[in-house]
Amino acid sequence: MAGSGPRSGSGTGRRVAVVGGGAVGVTAARDLAAAGADVTLFERGDLGSGASGRAAGVLYDAYAEDVDARVGARALERFRDLSGTNGFAFRECPYVMLAREGDDDLIDAVEGAAGRMRAHGREVETLSGEALADRFPGIDAGDVAVAAVAGNAGWTDPGTYVAAMAERAAAAGAEIRTDSEVSVSTTPPGVAVASEAPVTRRFDAVVVAAGAHTKRVLADAGIRVPLKPYRVQALVSGRDYDGPMWYDASAGVYARPNPGGLLAGDGTVPEEADPDEWERGADEWFIAEVSETLRERAGHDPAVERAWAGLCTATPDGDPLLGEVADGVYVAAGWQGHGFMRAPATGEVIAEQVLGEDEGVEQFDPGRFDGDEAFEITEGMAVETGEDTGVPE
Ligand SMILES: Cc1cc2nc3c(=O)[nH]c(=O)nc-3n(C[C@H](O)[C@H](O)[C@H](O)COP(=O)(O)OP(=O)(O)OC[C@H]3O[C@@H](n4cnc5c(N)ncnc54)[C@H](O)[C@@H]3O)c2cc1C
Repeated sequence: MAGSGPRSGSGTGRRVAVVGGGAVGVTAARDLAAAGADVTLFERGDLGSGASGRAAGVLYDAYAEDVDARVGARALERFRDLSGTNGFAFRECPYVMLAREGDDDLIDAVEGAAGRMRAHGREVETLSGEALADRFPGIDAGDVAVAAVAGNAGWTDPGTYVAAMAERAAAAGAEIRTDSEVSVSTTPPGVAVASEAPVTRRFDAVVVAAGAHTKRVLADAGIRVPLKPYRVQALVSGRDYDGPMWYDASAGVYARPNPGGLLAGDGTVPEEADPDEWERGADEWFIAEVSETLRERAGHDPAVERAWAGLCTATPDGDPLLGEVADGVYVAAGWQGHGFMRAPATGEVIAEQVLGEDEGVEQFDPGRFDGDEAFEITEGMAVETGEDTGVPE
């Protein structure tokens, strides 16, 4: 991962199609266009109408593994650079990950993860429940055994990032086409817009960042990737909240401040969803469980104004698929619930790969799979327990 963005002029003469106008697609389109490539972004609906417009906008670089930590840090750097321009704002706010008394596996996992985060240079403190209560009176920490507090963190409204990056992509010369569903072809790379069928437009490269539809779009082009869409949920409460962002690993619930109240979520349904036929509203059990955790953890009796679901994408090992899958055809998907906060970096990496400036991230190479692997969907936010990663704690 080069990390400073594609070189100006390095894309001159390259014609690139980006499929998908979510956070990843608009970032890739902006970086490619800024490097001089002739970019067309195709979005089947409106910009941000996929997972990006439904995300919670929790942002941090507190990852226990080296590559993830670097990707997360680079993404935060770009969020901060963008903040204050094009209607986008990054709100600084610490992120607390906690485990309750009696949850021994999770206590070990939070302590272990915090140690590994620090080993990778992340700004993370480990606190007892008592110290947590002193630091953040807004959190009810009576039953908290251990907390990891990440300082390099914040939140935003994800839709404003998509709009801001799309504006920048257009300013750099990219053509942004909404209401343009495409199918992809290979050898040579190309796309056909559904409304213009059967015309296929040829490109030097096609980047498929189609979120929950990625597996289907690539399968129609004869390329198999192991990806499963699954539902996760969030809600907004209109009652005041003035504390940090937190993830209660024992309850599997997170919350962050939101204008006029708070936003809370997770509600993972670990079953493969059909990207065209899925329940957009939140489930009753999700609202009840999150409300209960908010009362216990933050003394917050929610006034639920809105609750919704969206689709994330899982891979067999929890790492994304980011790289070339056929000559000139690239995939960028499989974020396991962490795709928004990493988009400024993953969009950059895929742009650099398309331009031949970077070999990408080996750990994310889609070539590590055959494409037909059977696997279970695991929750994206979960703290890993019992796994020895070999990194010093
Ligand atoms: C409730 C919820 C909360 C979340 N919270 C967070 C969070 O706090 N932090 C975080 O990092 N992540 C979060 N996520 C995950 C995050 O939303 C995703 O990982 C991220 O937005 C993925 O971005 P993307 O650009 O890859 O995909 P998407 O945003 O899904 O974009 C893909 C786009 O491709 C388009 N498309 C599909 N098929 C075609 C086609 N054939 N032709 C043209 N266009 C096509 C779609 O319409 C869509 O707009 C959350 C997700 C949900 C649902």
